[in-house]
Amino acid sequence: MSKPFISALLISVSISLLAGCGNTASPATDAPTTSSISSNTPEPTQATSASPSPKTSVSPLPSVSPAATAKGTKSPTDSPNAKPTATPATTVKGEKNDDVQAVAKPDSITALVNKKLVLSENYEPNDLVYPDVLFTFKEKIEKRKMRKEAAEALKQLFDGAKEDGIHLAGVSAYRSYSTQKTLFNNYVKKDGLEKAKTYSAVPGQSEHQTGLSIDVTGSDGKCAVQDCFGGTKEAVWLAKHSAEYGFIIRYPEGKESITGYQYEPWHIRYVGTSVSKEIAAKNITMEEYYNAVPVTK
Ligand SMILES: [Zn+2]
Repeated sequence: MSKPFISALLISVSISLLAGCGNTASPATDAPTTSSISSNTPEPTQATSASPSPKTSVSPLPSVSPAATAKGTKSPTDSPNAKPTATPATTVKGEKNDDVQAVAKPDSITALVNKKLVLSENYEPNDLVYPDVLFTFKEKIEKRKMRKEAAEALKQLFDGAKEDGIHLAGVSAYRSYSTQKTLFNNYVKKDGLEKAKTYSAVPGQSEHQTGLSIDVTGSDGKCAVQDCFGGTKEAVWLAKHSAEYGFIIRYPEGKESITGYQYEPWHIRYVGTSVSKEIAAKNITMEEYYNAVPVTK
């Protein structure tokens, strides 16, 4: 694997508006399931030799967060845990490493992860559990896991939905760096780098690696991780009530130029109720909450 290729693979954040979940309409689904209602991709095989191995080096980059604006959004310093700023960043070695920074506090439940703030290949949450909720598959496998606090909140959310006659199922939650890398590399082999990036997240850039995100669908599994989920009664319920349980719709409609991702009505992210309620009340994104640089800027 050539250096230019690796650099392009890991560093390029120019690709826009695509697949926070690792896919959109592509059959290369968010995370392949073995027996899910909706999946049509095989479980990934083990890592390929073509895998890019990001070497990291400490680099004193300037903060990614500009000074607080007058828009009334939160300054990172107002939040106890999430400061995607002000820490010397671990950056991917390459020619264009001025555009990507490491997430400073990946264990924070309010950590901001996107195409510019990335997780290390070594980051793995240490409190992953299996949420006690329905999934579209039976196996106890990686993508069924979430961090404990998020898993408990998810249970509350599913129970709350049920009381309103909405029956939800999990599709894909935690995804390790290595799983994402394997998926991505397989897609690159199949379709080439540029096309792969249109439907699959680059390793380290997937919010699923936090263990705080999950793709949710109706219990019938129809439209799981597909655009047609938008507008379903489940999607409407999620948009209206997720914040009550500490979750946000992470990639809202109309905010593509800020989040760097298309509208994904199925992808919810746990941030805790104080942050989720503020984000929902102001109708803003996580990037706006922290006054972070728009991803596609
Ligand atoms: Zn997702």
